[in-house]
This record gives sequence, structure tokens and C-alpha cells, in this order.
Amino acid sequence: MAAHLMRVSLRQALKRSANLGAVYNLTNVRHDSTKSPKWNNNNVREDLATAYRGIFEYGLSEGICNHLTAIAPARKGKDYVALVIPYGLHWCEVTPEKLVGLNSNEKLVEGDGEADITAMKIHFGIYRARSDVKCVMHCHMPYATSVACLEKPVLEMIHQNSARFYNRFAFDLGYTGLATADEEGDRLARVLGDKTILFMGNHGVLVAASTIHEAFDTIYYVERACMYQVLASATGKKLNVIPDELCEKISKQFYADKTYMLKHFQAVKRMLSNSDVDAF
Ligand SMILES: [Zn+2]
Repeated sequence: MAAHLMRVSLRQALKRSANLGAVYNLTNVRHDSTKSPKWNNNNVREDLATAYRGIFEYGLSEGICNHLTAIAPARKGKDYVALVIPYGLHWCEVTPEKLVGLNSNEKLVEGDGEADITAMKIHFGIYRARSDVKCVMHCHMPYATSVACLEKPVLEMIHQNSARFYNRFAFDLGYTGLATADEEGDRLARVLGDKTILFMGNHGVLVAASTIHEAFDTIYYVERACMYQVLASATGKKLNVIPDELCEKISKQFYADKTYMLKHFQAVKRMLSNSDVDAF
């Protein structure tokens, strides 16, 4: 089915969705960012636009498909919105102002345009299931997607980039086609469980995190881990797999202090600002 037939207005796309009020209910939110004065609509817009542009610069996007979303306080009132790229915009064209926002009543309240229905179905399924998640990134980046397309996918623990994600990922082998129904988002959320990364069989990769910078850093390093795996496998030589105990140690080291994730994101923001003065 042609992709354009999957597009409907945001209102239509979300008409049958479950009430997302609970998703935006901050009484359930566990992440400190929501208590920070910096967690406001403008800052989330700027960070999400940075993520779109940064992922494009890294070559991890695909045409005008794939999608990144983040939850932010609404511009007006006390509600919250899910920000997303309007369908048809190229990732290199995204600015904070061009992002559109849906409120907890599933209504377009910020910006003009329409959303890809598959974005809504996939991302809202995750938000419904995970109150700790404030950002979802879904890409078809080449190496990680290649791993996801294997009959028996596995993320080989052969590099510290892989070991960082030890026990933090899941594989979905139940691909059902384009995600156009709530059930598919809910199904993907069940497969993801409490993990951070979902390798979506025959499809791509999804990352769920409490901040934009963590999701961004994660999706970049998942791709790097898979790149080493694919290239090492291409030699035909036996892989040197890191023992489980050491993988566990490495993963704990990476997650003991996540400042590097923010530093990475800030560096990307500077890179984009320096390369395109009109970007933001
Ligand atoms: Zn996709």
C-alpha cells in the first residue's frame, strides 16, 4: 500500500487511540527532567529539532520516513504535547517551530501539518506503556536494520559499544507490515518491555528514553555497535565475543554516569549551529 494512503490528519490518526492523558500524567513520571525549569516547550522543540538534524547528518535517516517524538509541556495551558515532524518535511529542514504537537486529548494544538500514521501508532504505543519514556526514536539506519533483518538476529558482544547495551535490548520477530493500528504499537511496547532498544524484525530500530539526548546518543551507538558486528562478520573470521560477566561490568560503567550522552548531544548542537546559521 502506498505510504501516502497511510497518511491521515492527526485527528483521524489518533481517533481510535487510547486516552493518552495517563501518558502525560506527571504523577507517574519518574525522570527528574520534568522537574527542571529547562524542561519547557521551547527547549524540547530545540532539542528534538537538533536530534532530527543530527541524525540526518550522521546518515541514519531514510528519506522523509522514520520519526522521532518527544513529550513536552504545552505552549498554552497545563497540558502536555507529543512533538513530531510534520509528514513530508525532510529531516534537514526541521526547525523547532516546524514541529507539530498533539495534546493529551489527541488533538493537534501546535503547528500545522499532518503526522505519519505509523509514527503515531508506534510511538504512542510506547508512551502508553512506559510512563518513564519521554522520547522515542525510530530509524532504519543501515547496519542496525541489517542486524534486525536476520532470521535469527543477535547483537554480538564483540565491542564495548555492544557491551554497553548488554541486557538493554529486545528483538521483535513478529513483523506485521506497516503499523496502522493501535494494536501494533501496543504489541511493540510489550516486546520492548522495560528495555531501551527494540530491534524491529524486517523493519528497523526503536529507542525509548527519558531524555532526547539519551535517545540520540543511544541510537547513534547502537548503529556503531552493529557496524562493527557487520564488518567483523564480513571478514568470515570467528568473532571474539566478550564474556557475559565483563559485558555486565562494561554496561554498568557506561550507565553509572550518563554525562557523556549530554556532552555528545551538545557537541552535535554546536556542529549544526556552526554549519548552518539559519538552522535555529
Ligand atoms: Zn519504520
